[in-house]
Amino acid sequence: MVRLFLILSAAAFLVGCKSETESQARVSTQAAVPASMKGVEARQLFGAKAQGSRQSAVPYGSYSKGCLAGGVQLPESGPTWQAMRLSRNRNWGYPQTVDFIRDLSSFAATQPGWKGLYIGDISQPRGGPMLSGHRSHQLGLDIDIWMLPPQRLNLSTKERESISSISMRKNKGAYVNSNWTRQHHEILKAAASDPRVARIFVFPGAKVQMCNDEKGNRAWLRKIRPWWGHHYHFHVRLNCPKGAKGCVDQNPPPAGDGCKDAEKWVQDILFPPPSDPNAPKPKPRRELQMADLPRQCINVLQSP
Ligand SMILES: [Zn+2]
Repeated sequence: MVRLFLILSAAAFLVGCKSETESQARVSTQAAVPASMKGVEARQLFGAKAQGSRQSAVPYGSYSKGCLAGGVQLPESGPTWQAMRLSRNRNWGYPQTVDFIRDLSSFAATQPGWKGLYIGDISQPRGGPMLSGHRSHQLGLDIDIWMLPPQRLNLSTKERESISSISMRKNKGAYVNSNWTRQHHEILKAAASDPRVARIFVFPGAKVQMCNDEKGNRAWLRKIRPWWGHHYHFHVRLNCPKGAKGCVDQNPPPAGDGCKDAEKWVQDILFPPPSDPNAPKPKPRRELQMADLPRQCINVLQSP
């Protein structure tokens, strides 16, 4: 039923009008929104929370329209990771997300030249929309992982603000550059092979490179999804936790390794198709309000 709702609302979004199901959901949440939260952008409300809510951990809604109850903080440093840009306070996630980072970073630390992983944004303490940057990352299930191989895991708070990751792309993302290594391949492969992972976003040239280099089992390539940007970091998206009824999974990636599709992305970068002069102008996006989010998100904000 949730999935049907998602398909309906996604379809409605594509044709630019709201399905009845979606507007009903909006009305039912609207009635529950306290006066103090009406007419306020949800990102202002979520951005003002410095701590997770004292609730049991549950993600509500979808990756781009939801929130996180009972979020936990990824420790700023661990045996094989460091969280970067601490001033953003976006190192919060669902507990399993922290477990995943422990596991993947300890694998990364086995790779020559890598002490572990530098972790970029996860989510705000209570998830939700952000004041800047991402559209997704709202459930505590999305993780940005830097492409820069960590040489040290004793970076100071200041260094974590000033050091930058490095880009892996050449020709606007059609190819990888000389920063790309087999270790990147192995780390993305380990991430994609993890059953907790739903998909990974990375620039098209990297996917094609991995398609060409992989001589063994190719099943994991299915989860590697070519996307814009994502050449300074890759983005791991975890599945909704088992039993979390209010959490809306995305449809799984199409069957197969997706390598043909990635090659098409590359061709379109190298030889951009002419733009359609009759294409409708993209509508400016309206900022989400509380009535757009699952009604549980109101409790998430209100809880201590
Ligand atoms: Zn991301």
